[in-house]
Amino acid sequence: MTSTTESSNTVWHRATVTRRRRERQNGHRGVILWFTGLSGSGKSTLAHALEEELHQRGCRTFVCDGDNVRHGLCGDLGFSDEDRAENVRRIGQMAKLFVEGGVIALTAFISPFRVDRQRVRMMVDNSKDFIEVFCDCPLEICEQRDVKGLYQRARRGEIPDFTGISSPYETPQNADLIVKTSEYTVEQCVQKVLALLEERGVVAPK
Ligand code: ADP
Repeated sequence: MTSTTESSNTVWHRATVTRRRRERQNGHRGVILWFTGLSGSGKSTLAHALEEELHQRGCRTFVCDGDNVRHGLCGDLGFSDEDRAENVRRIGQMAKLFVEGGVIALTAFISPFRVDRQRVRMMVDNSKDFIEVFCDCPLEICEQRDVKGLYQRARRGEIPDFTGISSPYETPQNADLIVKTSEYTVEQCVQKVLALLEERGVVAPK
């Protein structure tokens, strides 16, 4: 620190409570847990079930969910390829702030394009701050679940650019974890993610 201007003081003050100190206080690391997969593949269900488990362990967590973000931060964006890319970029920046705050940020977004997910991975300083969880579920099953009735509407042609129907989903090639949500229960999937978090030293083993 060479300058004594007011702005450098501001920077110094902000840096006083560092990420490491927050993490030490929290008792776990900050990380982005990025759930990706088709609509209905189980991203939100898993993110919230995992958050419940982590919360009960005393961890600081936050779930950023697709629909919520689209009502606010990304309310001006549609579903063109460009808008999807911008959507993911903004969510990535938001999640990065949570990581700096020592929080486990769980994001549940289709995020269909590899390049956009990769860009978020590169946004964070260290590749261990980004854990990509692929909710692997066949389109037919997602369509049968049709949690929000969107597939039916997409099949009727009422929703343009719907992922899996009229817009592509690029399967992750190097996901940190693949959870097959049509083969395992929610609880089993949650345990798989928890095991990875323990293995990577994000949270302490129970
Ligand atoms: P997404 O967020 O990917 O659009 P949702 O979580 O909204 O998907 O919906 C997934 C649906 O699949 C829910 O109705 C959930 O109960 C069901 N489901 C069944 N098994 C699983 C599982 N193992 N993991 C996650 N969801 C599951």
